Amino acid sequence: MKYYILFGPPGAGKGTQAGSMVERYHLCHLSTGELLRNEIAAGTELGKKAQALIEAGNLVPDEVVEGMIAAKFRSTGGVNGFLLDGFPRTIAQAEALDRMLESTLESVTACISIMIPDSLIQERIAGRAAVEGRADDARPEVVENRIKTYHAKTEPLIEYYRKAGKYQEIDGVGSIEEVRDRIFAVMDRF
Ligand code: ADP
Repeated sequence: MKYYILFGPPGAGKGTQAGSMVERYHLCHLSTGELLRNEIAAGTELGKKAQALIEAGNLVPDEVVEGMIAAKFRSTGGVNGFLLDGFPRTIAQAEALDRMLESTLESVTACISIMIPDSLIQERIAGRAAVEGRADDARPEVVENRIKTYHAKTEPLIEYYRKAGKYQEIDGVGSIEEVRDRIFAVMDRF
């Protein structure tokens, strides 16, 4: 099985690009943000706990997302691998992922990182807020906090995967098709 990490700051275009990536490489798309939003919509205990954190632009606890990912790994079959979107988001989650995969003698295939400058993040999320109506997109101070959280907790993963020889950076500035073709050019090598 292939295990791709789809990495990048909020608004980089991960959700936009994920569809064509899973189709081309027959992967299962696992978006922790989407899984958490489903829990909130269903009104589960987990969803109730996650909602306040998400709407303030903070991360939910590592154990919560690690549990969701492990359950999906166990229950999904018939694919060439997984596209992890929004996970890992902290070094602790990356270490947990490594341990999960080690237990089946597997490992992360590559970290595909879509990079855009901070100035574009606010602009893209403001555009998305108008279309998708996500509560954590609507308030600029919440988006600001998500960007801060990204720099403090998630950005260190770049070094983590670079050291492991698995970091592949893609320029996320350009049209959807341009960025998609850059991603395909990298993923075709694995
Ligand atoms: P975006 O990529 O636009 O920031 P996501 O849809 O990936 O948004 O995630 C939305 C929110 O869900 C995050 O701001 C965070 O609160 C929570 N979340 C998603 N994935 C994780 C994770 N791996 N660890 C902790 N919290 C997460």
